[in-house]
This record gives sequence, C-alpha cells and structure tokens, in this order.
Amino acid sequence: MPYAGNVSMTSERPLRHVAVLTLGCKLNLAESENWALELRRRGIAVSDRPVAADAYIINSCSVTHVADRKSRHLVRLARRLAPEATVVLTGCFAESAGPRASELGADLLVANAEKAAAVRRLLELRPTTPVVGASTAHRTRAFVKAQEGCNDVCAFCIVPRTRGRERSRAPAEVVREVCSREDEGYREVVITGTQLGAWGRDFLLPARPADLIRAVLEESTVPRVRFSSLQPQDIGDELLALWQDPRLCRHFHLALQSGCDATLRRMRRRYSIAQYAEALARIRVAVPDVAVTTDVMAGFPGESDAEFAESLAFCRQAGFAGMHVFPYSRRPGTTASLLPGHLPSLEVRARVALLLQEAERSARDFRGRFVGRMLPALWEQRVSRPNGRAAWEGLTDNYLRVRVETDADLGGRVTAVRLVRDEGDALLAVPVEAGAEVGGVPCAPRAVSRLSSPAASCW
Ligand code: SF4
Repeated sequence: MPYAGNVSMTSERPLRHVAVLTLGCKLNLAESENWALELRRRGIAVSDRPVAADAYIINSCSVTHVADRKSRHLVRLARRLAPEATVVLTGCFAESAGPRASELGADLLVANAEKAAAVRRLLELRPTTPVVGASTAHRTRAFVKAQEGCNDVCAFCIVPRTRGRERSRAPAEVVREVCSREDEGYREVVITGTQLGAWGRDFLLPARPADLIRAVLEESTVPRVRFSSLQPQDIGDELLALWQDPRLCRHFHLALQSGCDATLRRMRRRYSIAQYAEALARIRVAVPDVAVTTDVMAGFPGESDAEFAESLAFCRQAGFAGMHVFPYSRRPGTTASLLPGHLPSLEVRARVALLLQEAERSARDFRGRFVGRMLPALWEQRVSRPNGRAAWEGLTDNYLRVRVETDADLGGRVTAVRLVRDEGDALLAVPVEAGAEVGGVPCAPRAVSRLSSPAASCW
C-alpha cells in the first residue's frame, strides 16, 4: 500500500484529541479499542463519533459496496469537520481500494498488516501534549482479538484478500490482554477474529478454540467472556462442555448466509443445512436459554424463487434470537462477481424485506420467552425514558437488551433484574432487590449469573 499525503500544514499543533471511527466487524472494533486505550494511556482524549478533532483514525470496511461508500464518507466528513486535522485511513476499504483510497485525501494510509502500529505512525507525525483527566467513560465490554485472516474462499467474500491468511495470537498473549482489560475496569470481554473457529490451526502444534477459551477462563477472573462468530463445523462436545462455566456468555453467532443447500454450494460455504441444523440443536441442548444469532444474505447470484423460499423457511424454523440480514453485494475480485444470474436490485430488496420481517418475528419470540424471568445484566449506558424517569440499558449474557428505571448509577455493573415487559426494542426490567449487585452482594456468582428460573432466587 502506498504511503500518501503530507501533513506539513497540520503537524505543528499538539495532538490533544483523536476521533477513532470504526466500521465493520468485531475485529475492527477490537483494533479500534486498542488504539483508543493506547491514546488514552498517553493522556489523549478519544471520541468514537465523528466530531471535530486534531486527528482521525478511520478503521474502514469493504464487506459490501455500502461499506465502501460509508468508508469514503467518513474520510470526507473528517476533512470537513477539521480541515487541518491529520486523517489516517486503514482497514479493508483502504486495503481493497488501493490508489482510490489515497485520492480521498487521507494524510496517511496504514495497511491491515501494519494496523497494530497505527497509533505509533500517527504519533510519528504529530507531537502530543498530555491532557489531564482524559475521559473515563463506563467500561463495560472490551473486544480482544485472538485471530485474524481467513483461508476459506467463500464466493462472495473479499476478506481473505484484505485480511490475508489465518494467523492466531498465542493464548498467553490473549490472556494477558484479557487481564489488562479487566484491570482497566471492563466486566466483559468479547474474544473475536475473522475466522475464530480457525484459532490455533496455524500453530506448529495445532490447538483448538476450546484450548483458548479454557486458558481465558482459568487464567483470568473477568466476570463475562463472550465468544464471537463460529461456524457449524467448529461446534463440538469439547467446546460446548466449556459452557458449564457461568462466566461464558450464552450467545453463539453462527453465520448461516443461506438456508438452502444449493445456494450454500455456490457460495462455497463448508457446511450443509443438515450440518447447520445439527450444530444448532447441539448448542441448544448443551446451553439452556442460549441466544443464537446469525448472518443471512439475500440475492446471491442464481438464487431462484424456490431457493430463497427454502432459505426463508429454514430461518423460520431455526428461531434465531437475532438475524443480520444483508443484500448480496457484488465485490470486485470475488468469484461470485463473475457468476451468472445476478438479480435485479428490486428483487434483492424485496427478499431482504421478507428476511427482516422474519428477523423481527423470531427476535420478538426469543425476547417473549424471558418475560417474568430473572437474569443478570451488564449495564452499559444511561437512557432517558418517555416518562422522564432515569434508566439504564444493558445486555444479559444471552444477548437480551434490557432497560431498568432507577436513579442508581449502574454503569459497568452486573446486577440481577426481573424482566417484566417486552418494549419491542428491549425488555423492561425491575431490580430484583434495590442495590443488590453481583459484584457487591453476598450471593455466589454461580447462583447470580445463571439465575434463570424464579425458583432459583437467593434473595
Ligand atoms: S469464512 Fe468466508 S465469509 Fe468468513 S471471512 Fe472467510 S471467506 Fe469471508
């Protein structure tokens, strides 16, 4: 990737405030969080929204043409918000766009392979002046990268080209980062990667994701560990047995892409619908009340009405807790872009709408199962209620968004609540007992973290 741009007009001013803007996957989130922590440790204020700043690090995405458009937009927006600022562009769009990325006006392009050094590269260009009292927002969930790259060749996917071959971080390195996140006050870590199920495959002595999870559970005390995307072929008894540990969040993101075997074959996915259904069933048997979320694509080249109907029907019976629905997006350089049978965008949009309806229905079904139940939630942000009352919003370990009306400061804490009503976008809850917290209450974490049935109350 070319080194582009000059910073002569902006480099004199001390760097006090950086906006780290992130698009795309959890891996991008993990990297952006690392930069934010690195900058904060140097006393530099960090924002994760497009505001006026001294510099920007834009962590772009190229998974769809919409992601490309958003990446371009962020570079232009940063330039508009602060014409003198230093703009660093990295991520998959910068990687796949090549020379087009440097024409956008970024001052510095950083390749995916050099991403870890993005802050150092920025600081080489801009001096810093420590700022006292840099923000200490509630730290709830930290994304920790365990793996990067993918050796698979799904027909629609640009990621192997932008992220390269599979590379796993050593377990000790991952555990070290998890422990430092906990020391910084995070209550939950999300272990993430491009192809997490491939973690350890590239070691001299190959290892499996179960080995990594075991290491994190045994060598850290972080209250909640969430494992991000896996594929059906990664689901096995050894892995599932680890979910006996109440610190492991009962949430699996199992990308489906299509509910039709013929489409899966053309997508070059490495599982059949029967294998996917079996993995789903095994997860649900091993982990009660588990949330399974997924990614589904509509409009893959050659997807006939019958194939789409089959895909939709499978999603209906699968009963997902959440579905990310994507329209197929033609990516230059992918084999799918050369396939015949690309569908008119109107047809693709119609199919996306049907999948979104199903996503809404199955998510509502999943939420409805927990009304009346008691669950612990990690509180993330204060929200205001239509009735003017103070409230907090958070997430249960099984991926339910919940909110509770309280004047207490619940930021970054895990407390148990009773879920009383589905409000459509979240479940309204009431505190089980005012002030009772997992961290602070005398109840053993085991009892608290898996308080699912009303009968199991220890209050
Ligand atoms: S598994 Fe397929 S979709 Fe996922 S990153 Fe690899 S090539 Fe892309």
